[in-house]
Amino acid sequence: MHHYDCIVLGVGAVGSGALWHLARRGLRVLGLDRFPPGHDRGSSHGATRMIRQAYFEHPDYVPLVLRAYDQWRELERAATRSLYVETGLVQIGPPDGEVVPGVLASAASHGLDVEALSPADLAKRFPTFRVPSGMTGVFERRAGFLRVEDSIVTLVQQALSAGAQLHCGESVVSWTTEGHSVVVRTDHDTYHAGHLIIAAGAWSAQVLNSLGLPLVVRRKPQYWYHTTADHTRLEHGCPAWLYETGDGIFYGFPQIDSRGMKLAEHSGGSPVADPLRVDRQIDRADQARVERFVAEHLTGVSATLGHHAVCMYTISPDHHFYVDRHPEHDHVAFAAGLSGHGFKFAPVLGEAVVELALEGRSTLPVGFLATSRPG
Ligand SMILES: Cc1cc2nc3c(=O)[nH]c(=O)nc-3n(C[C@H](O)[C@H](O)[C@H](O)COP(=O)(O)OP(=O)(O)OC[C@H]3O[C@@H](n4cnc5c(N)ncnc54)[C@H](O)[C@@H]3O)c2cc1C
Repeated sequence: MHHYDCIVLGVGAVGSGALWHLARRGLRVLGLDRFPPGHDRGSSHGATRMIRQAYFEHPDYVPLVLRAYDQWRELERAATRSLYVETGLVQIGPPDGEVVPGVLASAASHGLDVEALSPADLAKRFPTFRVPSGMTGVFERRAGFLRVEDSIVTLVQQALSAGAQLHCGESVVSWTTEGHSVVVRTDHDTYHAGHLIIAAGAWSAQVLNSLGLPLVVRRKPQYWYHTTADHTRLEHGCPAWLYETGDGIFYGFPQIDSRGMKLAEHSGGSPVADPLRVDRQIDRADQARVERFVAEHLTGVSATLGHHAVCMYTISPDHHFYVDRHPEHDHVAFAAGLSGHGFKFAPVLGEAVVELALEGRSTLPVGFLATSRPG
């Protein structure tokens, strides 16, 4: 019989973070995933993920993201590998919109350093953006991107070096508890453990079906467009950016390779019925929205597509994560519904679910992410 202290179901962003923390505790731990680390079939691929501190979604994320910065740095040091690139971040939008007021509120409540910018300041310092009068901007220096696939592979490698086991190419078909033990069945084998962590991304509603979590999976294309000006490139100081318009929220990264500038729409996205069968072809209507944004709001970015990839958001009704202990099984914990903004937190959410599964409570301020929060 295979017996472990803890099993991690799903070794994507949060699962690899959890595996790392468990292995560092010296526990006997198994990670299970249908796909290999850094794969492109879930929600954690496409080269880059933004990381930022003045969190417009809610100031309560700030202590978690500050801890995540420390943990990414710790991981980089341990692996002698660069994962975080500090480009700075420009955020633009209406003064009464969701993004800029949210950034300013988070910065004020946590004493973070952000710089308010007028359209004229933006035009002078950041020629990538066309900013109509009436819009406003903020610049956050301590922000940038994480190399997403490398980050997961590095978390997994560090966990394996600390003694974790990983079985890829196995799909979990069921899990249950028997007394103080958890039994996990895959299409290959059956495993027993004292604790279970579920970090199943787009498959969370299925894997946690008894909870009836109100999650919606949405299809999220990422596009890379060739560029025509140096100011769009990382080495010429182009920042990461997030731009709220009347049509939605769009974001992108400086060009880092020959595929061009990566950009995408954060809002919108069509619902996905089966994450294993998400349509990975280009949807012309989605692409037209992004190209209209590029034509109206960016300079130096051409209409020539260099690459595209389809990813998935798993969205909760209030767009906040669910991080909790299972209400029916107290040695099972989960993170789900990361709503398109969870990657930057991978190690810290991993730490939180490990504490919830093993100790029944977390020392981290994740209470606002409990499933029982007001509706
Ligand atoms: C296009 C796009 C852009 C984004 N941009 C940002 C950003 O800039 N910054 C940011 O912080 N976040 C961003 N996000 C969000 C972030 O990437 C996700 O919230 C995060 O990566 C999700 O992590 P996860 O661990 O929940 O899921 P995943 O990383 O997808 O991991 C889930 C894993 O579970 C496995 N699994 C599920 N069910 C089973 C089963 N039954 N058996 C075996 N294995 C199973 C899957 O194979 C998968 O590996 C973005 C997401 C997308 C799609």
